[in-house]
Amino acid sequence: MSKVLIIGAGGVGQVVAHKCAQRRDIFSEITLASRTKSKCDAIAAQLNNSINTARVDADNVPELVALIKEVQPKLVINVALPYQDLHIMDACLETGVDYLDTANYEPLDTAKFEYSWQWAYQERFKQAGIMALLGSGFDPGVTNVYTALAAKKYLDVVEEIDIIDANAGSHGQPFATNFNPEINIREVTATCRHWENGAFQESPPLSTKRVFDFPEGIGPMNIYRLYHEEMESLVRHIPTIKKAQFWMTFSDNYLKHLEVLQNVGMTRIDEVEFQGQKIVPIQFLKALLPDPGSLGPLTKGKTCIGVIARGTKDGQRKQVYIYNICDHEACYKEVQSQAISYTTGVPAVVGAIMMLTGKWHAPGVWNMEQFDPEVFLKELGPMGLPEVVVEGAWPEL
Ligand code: NDP
Repeated sequence: MSKVLIIGAGGVGQVVAHKCAQRRDIFSEITLASRTKSKCDAIAAQLNNSINTARVDADNVPELVALIKEVQPKLVINVALPYQDLHIMDACLETGVDYLDTANYEPLDTAKFEYSWQWAYQERFKQAGIMALLGSGFDPGVTNVYTALAAKKYLDVVEEIDIIDANAGSHGQPFATNFNPEINIREVTATCRHWENGAFQESPPLSTKRVFDFPEGIGPMNIYRLYHEEMESLVRHIPTIKKAQFWMTFSDNYLKHLEVLQNVGMTRIDEVEFQGQKIVPIQFLKALLPDPGSLGPLTKGKTCIGVIARGTKDGQRKQVYIYNICDHEACYKEVQSQAISYTTGVPAVVGAIMMLTGKWHAPGVWNMEQFDPEVFLKELGPMGLPEVVVEGAWPEL
């Protein structure tokens, strides 16, 4: 039984709060803190005010330290934005408390998607005897665990991975992103990188497209290759991987809007002068777009996120496809959020359970594939995200 402090009361924070509240056997006391306290209070009201709330600016380390000292949690779950990661890690170091997040640190002014800053905390976390679990969402997160499962159980050697993320849901809005628009658009408009021949190879954003026939009635959809952060840790920790690619579905309508917004400069992340003040266009755009949280009741359809791993087993070339299907409306019914927030928030809570029960615990800074995937998945299914495993031959082209 442990006290937990959740930081961030957006789409993902809401799911994390609901799911922690469902597991009182683990989370005896829950505090939800964020920049805007009224958002925490609204989530607490959904839970009959059975959790505590607080206001904190997670970019202010002394404020964070004071809150952590007051709450005395065993673990801080960071589901604010990637910009806050290092500040929250600093506060955890100062107070000697474990840390978990779902996205790698990002500087505000450059889209980098690298673990280097957080990996640099390794020695300090080790010496303090505390643990940081990085990227415990779905992708990164469960996709790392699926890859580790392929390496542990289904293949002797993993040589290639394709991580494929489909949102086959629809919210009926002309243009909206399913999670924080700023983070989403930064990711999609960044130069594409994939791993091949021992290095990351660059290509223009969204320049490689395929059609993938998704399982369970979803059917064929266009997928586009883009860079995603879990590839960096996966090729480091599973060095037999010779090729790693990440693919995501986008509708023609989404891409049409994105192209126009990009062409007119609305996706820029640097400051521009506007009527005597400085604004960052993508932050202004975020203010205009629908709040992803408001899409919950409108979104119908499913997500399908998984990993195809290819390699050898007993000398034979083999492929395994491990995926999860999640239904937007079922998620909304359970926790009043759509599946994108749900598929991120549930693995964050399962990561927290792994740490708090000692099933995954060691001082230092860790990525998800470095621990036993089977104990994690044993908890993830009953918590709402069961996996499907399809084994087959490695298709020859
Ligand atoms: P939202 O924008 O909906 O929520 C972010 C929350 O963080 C808001 O409540 C916001 O407060 C709060 N916040 C922002 N800055 C601060 C600050 N300085 N101090 C305190 N609180 C702050 O984002 P999501 O819930 O969609 O995403 C949360 C995280 O999950 C992000 O890091 C995102 O990258 C990650 N993610 C990971 C995925 C995965 O599969 N691994 C998939 C999807 C998301 P306010 O309301 O005041 O703005």
